[in-house]
Amino acid sequence: MMLDGVFKMADNDHGADNGADRGGAAPSLDMMALLRNLFPLPRSLTGDGVRATLTALKADLPSLEIREVSTGTRVFDWEVPREWNIRAATIKTLDGRVLVDFADNNLHVVGYSIPVSGTFSREELARHIHTLPDQPDAIPYRTSYYAENWGFCLPHSLWQEMQDESYLVEIDSTLADGALTYGELFVPGDSNEEILISVHICHPSLANDNLSGIVVAAALAQHYLSQPSGRLGIRFLFLPATIGAITWLAENEDELHRVVHGLVLTCIGDEGPFHYKRTVEGAVVDLAVEHVLAHSGHAFEMMEFSPYGYDERQYGSPGIALAVGCLMRAVHGTFPEYHTSLDNCDFVTGTALAQSFRVILEVIDLLRNNVTYRRVDGRGEPQLGRRGLYRAIAGQKEGGGASQMDLLWVLNQCDGQRSLLDIAERSRTPFSRIRAAADLCLDAELITEVRS
Ligand code: ZN
Repeated sequence: MMLDGVFKMADNDHGADNGADRGGAAPSLDMMALLRNLFPLPRSLTGDGVRATLTALKADLPSLEIREVSTGTRVFDWEVPREWNIRAATIKTLDGRVLVDFADNNLHVVGYSIPVSGTFSREELARHIHTLPDQPDAIPYRTSYYAENWGFCLPHSLWQEMQDESYLVEIDSTLADGALTYGELFVPGDSNEEILISVHICHPSLANDNLSGIVVAAALAQHYLSQPSGRLGIRFLFLPATIGAITWLAENEDELHRVVHGLVLTCIGDEGPFHYKRTVEGAVVDLAVEHVLAHSGHAFEMMEFSPYGYDERQYGSPGIALAVGCLMRAVHGTFPEYHTSLDNCDFVTGTALAQSFRVILEVIDLLRNNVTYRRVDGRGEPQLGRRGLYRAIAGQKEGGGASQMDLLWVLNQCDGQRSLLDIAERSRTPFSRIRAAADLCLDAELITEVRS
């Protein structure tokens, strides 16, 4: 009878973390196809490119809420900016030959460029041209969000070929009152507490920097929507960097206490080693990520917090103080493709996206299953054979479950203070096996949960 009870463990609340399930943790969403689909959309801080991106995501995630916050809305020390939209932009020779066309690559125009139409001398135009002399065939990515300006970005090699005295310049854009748009999706949990997953959606045709985070977050959201609920809810935010996170925080200030762990995801589609930037004060999410990466077989590096990077610095600002770290593979500013046209769909691979998906899935599963227990009767070791636990272990082991040693660790360390992650770390055992051992002990009524 006990054996049957033990085998049923795979279907209980903690089943998502057992070994058998984890082996099959592949996303049902085709992340590479979604990435290619989103790549050409003209995203920026605001505007129709962001809306089109969120609308495309909604096709896979019908419960995604698309929210609009009006220009001028006060959000902490900031104001929601005017909305920027662009329809076309070109640089032509005076006889009408197109040399630079926004339609070919949306990196060609500096984000938030004001409208322009006219003939400019090469010298005048030069003040509005951005190139990368060290990477002469790459187009740089530039923005001018908070200073009214206009500009073009082009390969340095092309600019050197452009030696006419004057050019026809046209930017058909609007900068007007409108809204800031972001996406929010919530997977409810069994408690009021939740995990925050945040990605930025403000970069145009850049694949690793923004799109990799977007598609992995979308795949995770789809995965968890199709699973039975867990202890913690999971909130997914798809928002423009900085002003988007500040806007969301300002609009949800009364509910922030619900967020107990969080991750910003960015540049997770390249095949380089993982990098994780710790939270400001240190937190369980830091230990969880380090634990998962250490047992993943992937190369990785842990980095200390610094107040530069992505929205972890908004979530971790002193008046907010949420425990949100940042998971990356390539680190912003340190790889040659960063913020150039070389960060394209060939720089990101389906293999890397799938690896990143699995790592984050394990981190989320760990956080949702990291409970503290105490022994019901902690006097000496319980008699395992009488409770059918040896047979249960033999059964679990085939699916990569708990060993006898794992069971002994759990029975020794469940003192009402140490969490399962603490026990996994101390015993140098993957969390999933400690979780499986705890499930056996729970079913045999040897341990009981301690509520904090
Ligand atoms: Zn960036």
